[in-house]
Amino acid sequence: MTHPLLDLTPMTAGRFAGVERKVAALLGLDAAAPGDPYELVIMQGEALLPLEGCIRGVAGPGTVALNIITGPYGQTFGDWLRDCGATVYDLAVPFDTAVTAEQVRAALAEQPDIDFVSLVHAEAATGNTNPVAAIGAAVREHGALLMLDAVASVGAEPLRPAEWGVDLCVIGAQKALGGPAGVSVAALSARAWERLGRNPRAPRHSYLSLLDWKQRWIDAGRTALPHAPAQLEMLALDACLERFSAEGPELVMARHARAAAATRAGVSALGGGITPFVTAARDAAPVATTLRVPEGVDAGELVAKALAGDSTLPLAAGGGALAREMVRVNHYGPLAAENVVRSCVAALGEALAETGGAPGSGVDVPAAEAAVSAAWGASR
Ligand SMILES: *Cc1c(COP(=O)(O)O)cnc(C)c1O
Repeated sequence: MTHPLLDLTPMTAGRFAGVERKVAALLGLDAAAPGDPYELVIMQGEALLPLEGCIRGVAGPGTVALNIITGPYGQTFGDWLRDCGATVYDLAVPFDTAVTAEQVRAALAEQPDIDFVSLVHAEAATGNTNPVAAIGAAVREHGALLMLDAVASVGAEPLRPAEWGVDLCVIGAQKALGGPAGVSVAALSARAWERLGRNPRAPRHSYLSLLDWKQRWIDAGRTALPHAPAQLEMLALDACLERFSAEGPELVMARHARAAAATRAGVSALGGGITPFVTAARDAAPVATTLRVPEGVDAGELVAKALAGDSTLPLAAGGGALAREMVRVNHYGPLAAENVVRSCVAALGEALAETGGAPGSGVDVPAAEAAVSAAWGASR
């Protein structure tokens, strides 16, 4: 008996290259795009694979890096950079804000030797998003390479690596694109490939090696795949890119922006002492909205109560040090929808009312639901 997930014809090099072209178009990096050519690699693993591959590819004992920390991923990048022997300057900002281009400019001016900058675009884990265009201009002026983790921003908000001067751009499909988590992409500018090429520490003959893929796949004319691809994941990536184009990038991004605005509006109308974690709306990521629970309420317990009524809601407590104080509403992909946001806010409100919330502040679920609908309509 044939099985639709199991009995597939092998993926050809042509089909694989076709998916690559769709990813390039998604990022505005098609062959026809103006400016320096970029070459991208679809790595056969979750997004941490290309992120680590990029950092180990560029970094060595001679590297001087500015590592911008606006959430947990920035911390990971700093660890890898130090492990490679790089000199690392951390620029950390509170997780309830975004970093500014002025802060980056000042950090670069202080350390003229900096030749590599790592940055996360949107942080699903902390709910903030950073002004990459302005930061990219500052980094280009300084002459350093810019690496961007755009896993949580791609599909949810504009992402233009070539225009913004991003030299190493990493994306995955598992957030706003509603796609698979098992394959992911690193798109590198000519400057970035050149840096990898002259880094004696860049991985070779390794699963982390971008240079291996360049040599064996790109430079060899994309005729034979270096090894069997993650076929199901590649098919799913192709499908989610098709779905994204069919709905239309502008509409998908508008849906995410609306979900973030409606979540903030709903929570503000809810009362009970729960508030947006990211203070300024302009710093809030469209991909997910983080919330701060009132004093005396445990975020994990609140989420468990909210999920008891409907376990399918995209609610989670914060990770690590934020586990007790933060709730995440993961309104991405198909979940960037009015009914999902309304149900999340209502479920949190009912759970808060059960818990008591902040003293003296009532919980008004109908008002919150009305605010979600009003915000959804207003930003249409
Ligand atoms: C989600 C995400 C990733 C991928 O990590 P997962 O643990 O697989 O979800 C990488 N970077 C950022 C900024 C993300 O939000």
